[in-house]
Amino acid sequence: MSVPSFSNIITADMKKLFGNAIRSLLEDSALTVACTLYFGITKYEACTNCVYDPIGRKSSNRFITGGPVPFRNGGICPNCSGNGKKPVISTENINLAVIYDYKDFLGIKTPVNAPNGIIQVIARKEITPKLLRAKELQPSTEISNYTNARFERVSEPQPAGFGDDEFVFCNWKRIK
Ligand SMILES: [Zn+2]
Repeated sequence: MSVPSFSNIITADMKKLFGNAIRSLLEDSALTVACTLYFGITKYEACTNCVYDPIGRKSSNRFITGGPVPFRNGGICPNCSGNGKKPVISTENINLAVIYDYKDFLGIKTPVNAPNGIIQVIARKEITPKLLRAKELQPSTEISNYTNARFERVSEPQPAGFGDDEFVFCNWKRIK
């Protein structure tokens, strides 16, 4: 008994159609939702409340007149705890396709356990470096249930697509 052959039934046109379909789903106005990527502390900015001491590389413990949190000179600046600089957590708002039901996940054929608090994100391939850099993801910024939810990535972005690997998907686990 011969095994039916499926070779050559997927034409270049079908691949193109599939690619176009996913690409249109990922358009900002389609099935994607507004998400925020958190890249962690990427830089420090000068405290706006105290004079910085560039030699000691810390606060000079002197209030800047007009600053938001007055303190007496010689004291510890309450705005930066005397560090003189404040960490800046950089973020980026981005539209991504988010799949909440693991049964619809790509790449999971026979889920053994229903993964709790796991979501899947599908994105254009060009977004991969941002997905890799992001320390946390806040999905569906506009949905109140997820307003304060944060997820961390638990799988490497894997290519998806019909031969051309134009998209990637990866899974994220809820951490708060
Ligand atoms: Zn300060």
